[in-house]
Amino acid sequence: METSQDMIALLRRRGIYDPRLLEAFAQVPRHKFVMPPHRLLAYGDFPLPIGHDQTISQPYIVALMTDLLKVQPGDKVLEIGTGSGYQAAILAALGMKVYSVERIPALYEAARARLEALGYKVHLRLGDGYEGWPKFAPYQGIIVTAAIPEVPPPLWEQLAEGGHLVLPQGSPGSYQTLRQITKTQGRWSATDWGAVRFVPFVHAEA
Ligand code: SAH
Repeated sequence: METSQDMIALLRRRGIYDPRLLEAFAQVPRHKFVMPPHRLLAYGDFPLPIGHDQTISQPYIVALMTDLLKVQPGDKVLEIGTGSGYQAAILAALGMKVYSVERIPALYEAARARLEALGYKVHLRLGDGYEGWPKFAPYQGIIVTAAIPEVPPPLWEQLAEGGHLVLPQGSPGSYQTLRQITKTQGRWSATDWGAVRFVPFVHAEA
């Protein structure tokens, strides 16, 4: 059974060296983001169930995606797919202004109560993240934590100049490509970071 320190050691072995990022992982109590009986396994490098057929991502993927956002303290970051709130807490611990959207009411409520109890200031919204959160745009970083075939146009519009959008792009139910999309002078460039597996992004077409 891994401890928080084991998790940090593993992140280092897998190439996560940024001391600020490792410090955020050391600070955020991951076991509080999963329910018993999964709590004992909270610091292993694998995803875990959080109810409603959803999962909290494995620590390494949370670290990699956070790193790929290339954001600085004070930057605004939009997350689509709050889930347990763990990714949002890591971003908040790094000093970002975090905005996160979740579509499942029970997960939204649980994440809100949890983040508040732990003292993380995160702005949460219940709804379809396909539309992003225009009110606080633009965002220096946008992270999507559910598998999606194409980038929703509203998310591209809400990305700041020089910002990065990080998402598992591809069909749900199989593997997706972890993709980092950068906006430079309004133009798009993409870098791929390997295969990942995420739960589906659910978008109810109008
Ligand atoms: N980042 C989360 C893991 C998320 S799992 C964590 O740290 O725990 C993916 C989440 O995306 C699920 O909670 C799912 O309900 C949510 N989701 C899927 N489609 C969505 C959509 N269109 N808008 C908002 N949230 C969505």
